[in-house]
Amino acid sequence: MNIELPRKFTKSAKDKHVTVRKDGVLEIKGAWELYPLMSELTYKMKGKTVCQYCRRKIEPYRMTIDHLYPREFGGISITNNLGPACGNCNREKGSLNEAEYRVMRTFSTRAEKERYYKMCIAEKNRKKYNPHYLIGFDLPEEWIEYRNIKQITSGNNAKIYRKSKSYSKERAFIRKNNGKLSRPVVISKNGVLLESESVYYAAKDERITRIPVVVLENVIVIL
Ligand SMILES: [Zn+2]
Repeated sequence: MNIELPRKFTKSAKDKHVTVRKDGVLEIKGAWELYPLMSELTYKMKGKTVCQYCRRKIEPYRMTIDHLYPREFGGISITNNLGPACGNCNREKGSLNEAEYRVMRTFSTRAEKERYYKMCIAEKNRKKYNPHYLIGFDLPEEWIEYRNIKQITSGNNAKIYRKSKSYSKERAFIRKNNGKLSRPVVISKNGVLLESESVYYAAKDERITRIPVVVLENVIVIL
């Protein structure tokens, strides 16, 4: 899939450089964390002063970033899945996706909202924790591909990720759910791992060979 990108964007730091090239490809050199980078690109395109839900104007420093498809159910940190939201809307939205939240906003009483919220989350949990659903996360199916884990290149921080809580949590999840992963990993066009590192290492150590990935066709990483 292609991610939305601004026409112009360049950022440099020590030993790192990122730029949108003339051919529209985002070229990443050095170790950038995907989430802050994608948040910055998102604000550049969608603004940082108006909440995408209530349309209220707020100070940029108070703006939060919303995952349209929520992180809890596999939502990845790419521009297509991010947007500016005020703290109130973002909190209320919780782990709903954008479409579900827009429905919830039409209810007037708190009780109705809560009932609807619980129903949505229960339905998503049912898919997430059911091994019969190969894809248990809440993302558009056309974003997901399956790749051999050996075709993915990762950085050199395996040790750090293997010590993390999310790594051990993911290994337990994989075992409980017949080899299914809780979220896809994000990779660049040239196969470099960009997000969900602990999921990647957990899958590798559980000897899972084919894993769900989101391939960013217009992103190249130069190691
Ligand atoms: Zn709002």
